[in-house]
Amino acid sequence: MKKEQQINTLNELEQALNSLEKQTLPIDTRGAIHNAKSRLSQFKRSIEQDAGQGRLAALYRVSQSLGVSLNLDDVLTQVMDAVIQLTNAERGFLTLVDKDSSNLNLVAARNIQQENLQREDMNVSRTVIRSVIESGSGVVTTDAQDDPRFSDQESVIINALRSIMCAPLRARRQIIGAIYVDNRARSGIFTQDDLDLLNTFATQAAVAIENAQLYTRTDQALGARVTELETLSLIDQELNAQLDLDHVLLITRQWALKGTKAAEGWVVLCNDEDSVTNLVSASQEGDAAELDDWVIAGISLDTAPKLFPAKDDTPSYFIAPFSHTGKTIGAIIVSHPETISASDQQFLERLAARAAAAVENARLYAAIEFANEAKSQFVSIVTHELRIPLTSIKGYTDLIRQGIVGETTDQQNEFLDVIGNNVGRMADLISDLSDISRIERGNINLKPEIITVQTQVLETLSSLRHKLEEKSQNLLTDLPNKPLEAYADPSRVVQVLTNLVSNAWKYTPEGGEISIRAYPNNGQICVEVTDTGIGISKEEQTKLFTQFFRSESAVVREQSGWGLGLSVTRRLIDIMGGEIGFNSKLDKGSTFWFTLPTSAKSQ
Ligand code: ADP
Repeated sequence: MKKEQQINTLNELEQALNSLEKQTLPIDTRGAIHNAKSRLSQFKRSIEQDAGQGRLAALYRVSQSLGVSLNLDDVLTQVMDAVIQLTNAERGFLTLVDKDSSNLNLVAARNIQQENLQREDMNVSRTVIRSVIESGSGVVTTDAQDDPRFSDQESVIINALRSIMCAPLRARRQIIGAIYVDNRARSGIFTQDDLDLLNTFATQAAVAIENAQLYTRTDQALGARVTELETLSLIDQELNAQLDLDHVLLITRQWALKGTKAAEGWVVLCNDEDSVTNLVSASQEGDAAELDDWVIAGISLDTAPKLFPAKDDTPSYFIAPFSHTGKTIGAIIVSHPETISASDQQFLERLAARAAAAVENARLYAAIEFANEAKSQFVSIVTHELRIPLTSIKGYTDLIRQGIVGETTDQQNEFLDVIGNNVGRMADLISDLSDISRIERGNINLKPEIITVQTQVLETLSSLRHKLEEKSQNLLTDLPNKPLEAYADPSRVVQVLTNLVSNAWKYTPEGGEISIRAYPNNGQICVEVTDTGIGISKEEQTKLFTQFFRSESAVVREQSGWGLGLSVTRRLIDIMGGEIGFNSKLDKGSTFWFTLPTSAKSQ
């Protein structure tokens, strides 16, 4: 039996004894009744004391569990369970004040079985709740129907409310809501003691609720920020996947629509620094409608975003300009039949900033491509034009040397040698430049076939052998007897080998050693050219294979060369499907190696 019921029974007993006492009874019976009454009131006091202590213990228990969770739903459930447990109310409600609108939101409701209440059961006295929130003091009524404060209130009458108790939820001196409990059928359920208890509990509950609200808000804000950052990083990836302007405009438009609730979207570029009316490009998909001139005129030169609210039949437009070095270079424009939300506007502004960078990158890339193409064209024309006079100079020099125009003196022969050497240098330069320009323009025409690598090695050595002999350099070859078959353009393999062996010859002092080795390796053919020459410093090794790189060393500068050979070599190997690399130690020597595929498939 509950304490409350026990006391009620004791009260009934007391009343019965009182009415008995009023009758004429023998003196010892009267004495017994008197004794019984005093024992009864002693018993009642002890039960009430127990009840008070029991409720304090309950308050302590439920308060302890509060605040363990920071999940708002969990906290509200705990609060409602505790309220029902502490007050024995038939129903309990929790109302929170909406900070922005000041509206009262009924956020949780329980009945005595601690079950969530359905919407239709939520007929409470909102007047009582509002007055508690406004005054900041709790209210208790034993019978609302007879209480002059509440008896004429519509909700009290309609819902036949009798016992009502309501306490404010106060956190950091602010009322954030109220706890309301009632009993519709019975009067006299709640006492001032109950209200004190509810007030005490409400103070703790308010802190727990506010903490959970704060945590939820921070958590949600953080979650939203993380999602947005993920989206923006995805946009960055997509925008920078290709450095093509049309692609950038298309991706920007797609995201403008995908990331907002906009109905239509445009991305426009301004082609004139002083005017935004000249649009050079608008990326539209499907049947995106034409933009009205007045919208385009709204693109602000001062890079400020602009919102045109919807009017009559005209939808609302939002313009997020994107800029470079403080100047508007284009804009994202979206429209919506009604309105474009503040968060959508923010998203579009962030997207515009990213689009600006991507547009600039794409433009720079296009400019570089254009310049590169112009350079390649120029080189191709120049090399072509130079080749003809050079061939003629070489031809006539050879004829003079052969004595066709008469006997030549030693000095004349010396001069002819100088001319011959310089023509040779120029011919090398022209050949390298024309290769580079052809490779860059994708015009190089390779004729790969199955070759025997030993053949190309021997061919190269036969044309360079006399040079090596002049410098008394020792030539070693390590070639297997079994033919090493590779799939490559034979003349280009000779060109590669000539470059590597010439370098070994040029950058190895007299009396040094040069060795060539070829062997199968991992399904490919590997060729190594090793010298005991000057080697390459660690710092200069990083620059090797870049166009026009030549070491600062005096030995290198003494030799003729343009710093193009290795760059061409690497590109040729690359095109033929092989790899190239080197090992070098300053003052000790270098090994340059390259691989070739063995068949068209392994290329
Ligand atoms: P070039 O020989 O005409 O200068 P390359 O592109 O063939 O041009 O070589 C670039 C530079 O790499 C050379 O100038 C030289 O500094 C360095 N180099 C190339 N091969 C060797 C080598 N075998 N030993 C030392 N340095 C070398």
